[in-house]
Amino acid sequence: MEKPQNKQVGPESSGLVEALHAILGQGGLLTSPEDRAPYERDWRGLVKNPACAVALPKTTQQVAEIVKLCAANGVSIVPQGGNTGLVAGAVPIAGPPQLIICLNRMNRIKTIDLATNYITAEAGLTLSELQHAAAEAGRFFPVSLGAEGSARIGGLISTNAGGMQVLSYGSMRAQVLGLEVVLADGRIWDGLAACPKDNTGYDLKQIFIGAEGTLGIITAACLRLYPAIAARASALVGVDSPEAALRLFQAARAAAGSGLTLCEYMEGDSLALGAAHVAGGALPFIAPGYLLLEVSAPDSAHAPGATLESVLAQALEQSVATDAVIAQSERERLHFIALREAISEGELAEGGAVKHDISVPLGKIPAMVAAVRTLVAEKYPDCRPNIFGHVGDGNLHINIRPPKGQSIADLAPRKTDITADIEALAVSMGGSFSAEHGIGQLRLAGMAAHKSPVALDLMRAVKHALDPANLLNPGKTIPGAV
Ligand code: FAD
Repeated sequence: MEKPQNKQVGPESSGLVEALHAILGQGGLLTSPEDRAPYERDWRGLVKNPACAVALPKTTQQVAEIVKLCAANGVSIVPQGGNTGLVAGAVPIAGPPQLIICLNRMNRIKTIDLATNYITAEAGLTLSELQHAAAEAGRFFPVSLGAEGSARIGGLISTNAGGMQVLSYGSMRAQVLGLEVVLADGRIWDGLAACPKDNTGYDLKQIFIGAEGTLGIITAACLRLYPAIAARASALVGVDSPEAALRLFQAARAAAGSGLTLCEYMEGDSLALGAAHVAGGALPFIAPGYLLLEVSAPDSAHAPGATLESVLAQALEQSVATDAVIAQSERERLHFIALREAISEGELAEGGAVKHDISVPLGKIPAMVAAVRTLVAEKYPDCRPNIFGHVGDGNLHINIRPPKGQSIADLAPRKTDITADIEALAVSMGGSFSAEHGIGQLRLAGMAAHKSPVALDLMRAVKHALDPANLLNPGKTIPGAV
């Protein structure tokens, strides 16, 4: 198949815009610079490139027609959900204007099946709306993250998002039972049927999960639901080192098993940053580091409070923990979570950071933190590490903040080196340079540096098979795929 040349298409210039209007109807196409602006800029404000327009389809059929039109005109497409991704995957690259297809108006719930425990919904439903729908049906949807009010099902699946409860329930991939996808040639693949057992050839849905919109546009998904949580107990615990945090995690895991549904580590400075950006955010005590622990039970036969109390009593007695507060109400439990979730927004509000999202084998967490501290002290002594994350998954966000009073722009000359150093440290310890945020436009150097040539060849082969004209999200995920 011959590769069409991307054309310079401006909103005013072509029959394409008229044809898009005809497909999308009133209010379905944004063309003015002011209307397009919020869709063209990533959440962190690091990347902003123009799109020729923003399409807001309401049906899968409309998405398919738009894709066919773009394919015929050689116009590239950037799929977008809530635009909360942290690697600039949902905004255009520099170059010929691309069409953003934002699925946020496709936000209907199609079915909830309580016998099989699944929900089928369109790709534009937010994660919060999904969680509420599950709760109203007496079920639980476990993926939970700081951007859940804005992040959409299609984006979450396309980044294989993780969040705070991967520990017990797995990431987004583990929740997906079926998908509906518009392919690069405009055909619709209906793989929504949630048949519990199906070994009929390749498991095609897996190809689109974590593909960051480079292989197809997800228009609907069938997702797993779980029994509602009957009881949960949460505690904010002080620890004086990453070693102690790891020991406490292991003790809690041994006591609670898969009932340990949350284990987040935050260094002292990091949680203080969150606390400064939450209403009523005073910390209950000051410690060098904190663990946020939650033990949950699906039925009344278990007593998560007793399990947590016994773990904490032992940890305090053995000086693994320095202090601990157990949430006395649902309000206090949610407040602990809000403190943790506010770290990213607090960081952004106070000058931003060079962000990293690494994982290492669990036992290497203390060595990784120590290596980062040594690196920063020796090579970037004026910078301030902000270290927090999903420690039970070996996943830490190791963000490097600029010197006090400066902003991320001031770190620009050193940004590439800082990132290369931290990514190399994680990979040298047997870890990953991008644990849950994906690659987008911002992690391509890491892909080129750390992914094997064989892995990159396989990825290029898959991309070529599904999107030979490189229509979908060019310049993302695979180095050189522009
Ligand atoms: P977008 O940002 O719109 O898109 C993300 C990628 O998916 C892009 O490549 C886009 O092209 C593609 N895409 C979007 N929709 C579709 C579709 N329908 N079909 C095909 N491709 C599509 N992430 C975590 O994993 N864990 C966390 O704990 C976490 N915490 C966060 C906290 C904050 C405060 C913020 C701002 C972000 C956080 N994130 C986290 C990152 C982000 O929320 C997730 O990556 C989320 O999955 C993005 O969803 P979205 O709808 O905003 O996707």
